[in-house]
Amino acid sequence: MHWDTIPKDTDPAVPPRLADYDLTRSAFTWSQARSELAGLPGGGLNMAHEAVDRHAASGAGEKVALSCVARDDSVSTVTYAELTRRTARFANVLRSLGVGHGDRVFTLLGRRPELYTTVLGTLKNTSVLCPLFSAFGPDPVEQRLRLGDARVLVTTADLYRRKVAGRRASLPGLEHVLIIGPGAAELPGTASFDGLMSTAPDTFAIPPTSPDDMALLHFTSGTTGTPKGAVHVHEAVVAHYATAAHALDLRPEDVYWCTADPGWVTGMSYGVIAPLVHGVTVVLDEGDYDARRWYRILGGQHVTVWYTAPTALRMLMRATPRQGPYALPRSHDLSALRFVASVGEPLNPEAVVWGRDVLGLPVHDNWWQTETGSIMIANFAACEIRPGSMGRPLPGVEASVLEQGEDGRALVVDGRVTEVGTPGVEGELALRPGWPSMFRGYLHDKERYDAAFADGWYLTGDLVRRDADGWYWFVGRADDVIKSAGHLIGPFEVESALMEHPLVAEAGVIGRPDPVAGNVVKAFVSLRPGVEATPDLERELLGFGRRKLGPAVAPREIAFDQNLPRTRSGKVMRRLLRARELGLPTGDLSTLEGSV
Ligand code: ATP
Ligand code: MG
Repeated sequence: MHWDTIPKDTDPAVPPRLADYDLTRSAFTWSQARSELAGLPGGGLNMAHEAVDRHAASGAGEKVALSCVARDDSVSTVTYAELTRRTARFANVLRSLGVGHGDRVFTLLGRRPELYTTVLGTLKNTSVLCPLFSAFGPDPVEQRLRLGDARVLVTTADLYRRKVAGRRASLPGLEHVLIIGPGAAELPGTASFDGLMSTAPDTFAIPPTSPDDMALLHFTSGTTGTPKGAVHVHEAVVAHYATAAHALDLRPEDVYWCTADPGWVTGMSYGVIAPLVHGVTVVLDEGDYDARRWYRILGGQHVTVWYTAPTALRMLMRATPRQGPYALPRSHDLSALRFVASVGEPLNPEAVVWGRDVLGLPVHDNWWQTETGSIMIANFAACEIRPGSMGRPLPGVEASVLEQGEDGRALVVDGRVTEVGTPGVEGELALRPGWPSMFRGYLHDKERYDAAFADGWYLTGDLVRRDADGWYWFVGRADDVIKSAGHLIGPFEVESALMEHPLVAEAGVIGRPDPVAGNVVKAFVSLRPGVEATPDLERELLGFGRRKLGPAVAPREIAFDQNLPRTRSGKVMRRLLRARELGLPTGDLSTLEGSV
């Protein structure tokens, strides 16, 4: 039943616009989306102008841009006009410090209004913004500040004291540290963000900005190795705008909430830029992950479009199972909610169906990477959902499945690759470069960048299958695929099957070397709250896996682990499970959740 398709509900009352793009038309060009943006008055394209100034200039200044829910649930709002002024002030602050075009401004902040001011003010000044996870420890912070040539850091006194102060001497390029809130006076080498803002003028003429000017630097999640610094340019805003319409169905009247941390590419592209370009009201939650709180915000803020991640949905699923009394969401009014999407790692079909039964809406999975800068493949608004699939390429995106070599990656012979023509056959997912938010390099690592291309394709490192109708199905990362007794096994398929067992909360699957089979599948399983890990349950899960997957693919070993290692963006770190299992070096753990 989980693999049934869920047809799209069509509402004839909704007027057609970019979001209603007809899939059967193949002529979508990015210039179509570009023509719906304003552009700078003197020519050129600047992300911050599209996100704030043009709304204020076109009479929408009094509309609420940010609806901020503080930890104590109190709500404050910032209008587009006010955000225009604040971001102008910050651009002036940077200018007064001598920080200009192309200089790197880092944030080490949780989600708070000043984050928006800093990001957009930096972009107005044509400087480059690089966000860091506020939960990073001193090592990853220092590593990224150095790698990214940071000149300015915006943070709080507490975060600075704990994560940066001790490393400052080894970061001579970091000239300015701006402290939000109290504390700058007691911290040598810092200045008060609020003090500088209070005296800065609140108008700012954005200098000429080329669409090819660097705008954002994003470090990848580090799931497969050392994080890479992906370079993005102002032109990416065209893709942010178009994809938010196609894949998230954003419309100006929406109240939109993106739960991604601002330190991750989703939190920036779809937490800050895309929704503001659409002129919607963005809900900004300063609190922590907590199912009750989240239901309160969804209901209390009348959220209409919600963008979240599988790890967050699994948290809600644990708190509110599909079967039994759905006391929690029923006690909140979720009637405003009309669209829910997820990204970051595979969305198990179970979660799609859970959404339909508990939230009243199925969850639209979509796929992209830090490198692609925007959503590329999605169960998007204009097409039916296939639970367990990541969807179809968005208009303007050309995707393909390439034949694999021995190592699981695309097979390149004499510089040529071969596309898989047969539906259902797996291979490496490739994209034809040319979309506006395509990354323009890995900072200081040309070799790694060049290695990501072959025969006119960008190679994603992910393995997928395409079905006969053109929907893409995630198999695994090329690095994670398990070769066992002549079969190539995608860990996601095994994890999804195990998650259909009512007592299983989550699973992470690896290959363990075996003299006979090459590798055998081993699953690490976390159980629902209150469920006891017993040898009987282990036997039951092994049998459950065999029945669902067949003996060639099913796990041969199960270990119970209530704390599966994951990245801060919520992905199970299989490479760490494997390294621990085999006693190998654990590699770069800077993005491991819970590490300091
Ligand atoms: P690194 O490149 O440093 O190893 P990362 O690839 O996890 O880290 P991101 O750019 O944050 O860094 O994540 C992109 C990856 O996340 C994709 O390549 C894919 O493996 C996974 N991913 C994203 N969305 C989905 C999805 N909907 N289904 C399956 N996998 C997804
Ligand atoms: Mg990656």
